[in-house]
Amino acid sequence: MARKFFVGGNFKANGSIKSIQTIVDNLNAATLDPNTEVVISPPSIFLLSTAEKVGNGIKVSAQNVFDKPDGAWTGELTNKMLTEHGIEWVILGHSERRTIFKESSEFIAEKTKASLDAGLSVILCIGETLAEREAGKTLDVCCGQLKAVADVVSDWSKIVIAYEPVWAIGTGKVATTEQAQEAHAGIREWLSKTVSPEVAEATRILYGGSVTEKNSGELAKQPDIDGFLVGGASLKPAFVDIINAKL
Ligand code: PEP
Repeated sequence: MARKFFVGGNFKANGSIKSIQTIVDNLNAATLDPNTEVVISPPSIFLLSTAEKVGNGIKVSAQNVFDKPDGAWTGELTNKMLTEHGIEWVILGHSERRTIFKESSEFIAEKTKASLDAGLSVILCIGETLAEREAGKTLDVCCGQLKAVADVVSDWSKIVIAYEPVWAIGTGKVATTEQAQEAHAGIREWLSKTVSPEVAEATRILYGGSVTEKNSGELAKQPDIDGFLVGGASLKPAFVDIINAKL
């Protein structure tokens, strides 16, 4: 079965009541490719208001969640809080969480398991640094990050993988279509060998890293690129063109 194209918008810690309303109004008024699944991820304080206002089949995602049940975890959100409020998605393992907040692959794997157990769907981010790419370690790093998840999770049906080379995130330096396709194909091959050919065939692998309306069309043509996770450009009206990259 064909993998449904998927475009996620990660607003990170950006946005005001007014600017997020503008983004939502723009998305609600747009004609979006019905064959693309769209998920937007505002900062946590805007999750509910965004979920209430957004239409056009668009779902809302948290940018992070803790792996433990409700308790003494100052500053955290729990999976139950998300599901109770109808939030169906969470981004985990973003490189900013891995580097700035020192989240290990094992911790991200535990969080992935906890979110899946709670019924959430997960956008699981992986990716190498420039030094790792230059050392020829791109797939070792990405597959190592995935292995931590494969060690604790058996059902991959609610996981979307986002391959986001760290050197391409927010830098304006997009991976070439060849670099992206090569990494995606390698990740899919690893999934096939390590998890199962069925999971490899069914799992969507998104590209993330300086995606814009200008480069999304070519990237979307690659056989193993099943969509995008978009940061900066998801805050702009041209996000609609990225959603419609396959049209
Ligand atoms: C991201 O934060 O996931 C991302 C890909 O950012 P940008 O599109 O701005 O590079």
